[in-house]
Amino acid sequence: MSIVFKMTNSKLTKQELNRYSRHLVLPEVGVEGQEKLKEAKVLIVGAGGLGSPVASYLAAAGVGEIGIVDFDKVDENNLQRQIIHSTKDIGELKTESAKKSINNLNPNVKVNIHNVKLNSKNAIEIIKNYDVVVDASDNFPTRYLVNDSCVLLKKPNVYGSIFRFEGHASVFNFDNGPCYRCLFPNPPPKDAIPSCAEAGVLGVLPGIIGTIQATEALKIILRKADVLSGRFLVYDALAMTFKELKLGKNKNCPICGENPRIKELIDYEQFCNMKEQEEKSLEEDEINVQQLKKMMDNREDFVLIDVREEHECDICKIHGARLIPLSKIMNGNIDILENIEKDKRIILHCHTGARSAEALNILRNKGFKNLKNLVGGIDAWSQEIDPEVAIY
Ligand code: ZN
Repeated sequence: MSIVFKMTNSKLTKQELNRYSRHLVLPEVGVEGQEKLKEAKVLIVGAGGLGSPVASYLAAAGVGEIGIVDFDKVDENNLQRQIIHSTKDIGELKTESAKKSINNLNPNVKVNIHNVKLNSKNAIEIIKNYDVVVDASDNFPTRYLVNDSCVLLKKPNVYGSIFRFEGHASVFNFDNGPCYRCLFPNPPPKDAIPSCAEAGVLGVLPGIIGTIQATEALKIILRKADVLSGRFLVYDALAMTFKELKLGKNKNCPICGENPRIKELIDYEQFCNMKEQEEKSLEEDEINVQQLKKMMDNREDFVLIDVREEHECDICKIHGARLIPLSKIMNGNIDILENIEKDKRIILHCHTGARSAEALNILRNKGFKNLKNLVGGIDAWSQEIDPEVAIY
């Protein structure tokens, strides 16, 4: 009885002592270790193939607080490997679906959902609240972003990646060990490595790599030796082999080396060449909705002109836009424009981009020099930037 009394004095409830009993009998975990797990906060970046086993096993193991970052929705073609989601979850946000699964498995876990695309603006705010970060993402900009944020915030980064039949795993930025950039200072050229969507992936592969990531996250929390730091694990599912590469800290690493030149988060889409490629497909006098949003966020100096008709403006509008219908511009009725300097930066938008292109040509002939047409118009704005803006 005295033992029972002592144990119920722990931070674990009687129900938790029962749930985690197979942990408690392990001397390497025990009540003390289980309490550490309960107090731990782990952030999982990505609720897909890797995130599924990571979230499930960490929840089952009794990690007290789990954060999940994802902005995507469950698609039928995810279910071949993303086992935290079910057929009935198709169309639902991955974060919501994952939270449901986790709490079905273990209602003791507090799940924080971050239904956003992790970027340089939100990463520090989100990551700073966690003890361990698990990178379960599937793209290079996010990997560099997670790595750099973890180095700046001094958080361990449990890395995993999968491709066809091959998986990689490591722990970066742990105990003064190497970071992802020590190994890969620069991203591979775009298109050098196709995505899983293009190249395919064996469904069970993320299960294995994600489970390795979950194991390492638990070991970090339990402060057990031999964490996969300074080592890079390569798993080949076809040959069924594990290889291990030794990994040293790079003293010239741009972020964790002796003279780091990266001291704050950068633009990772651009760094990984993706934005540049996207922007190239735009004409010189065009702008896309992401660029416009960025200009707004940066409070840049420009005039946004809506060239739709008034009745369309009643349905929906982009905040801050000035209405000057194309019909008036065509009639030469542009008195309202006379207050605008000829070299002022002007962005024109309409419903989908055709009328504003026409308006742009008219205004250019009137001497305006700094004009851009919003590609996709307010329709693209609703779909990509602000879902509150009605689509018509
Ligand atoms: Zn480094």
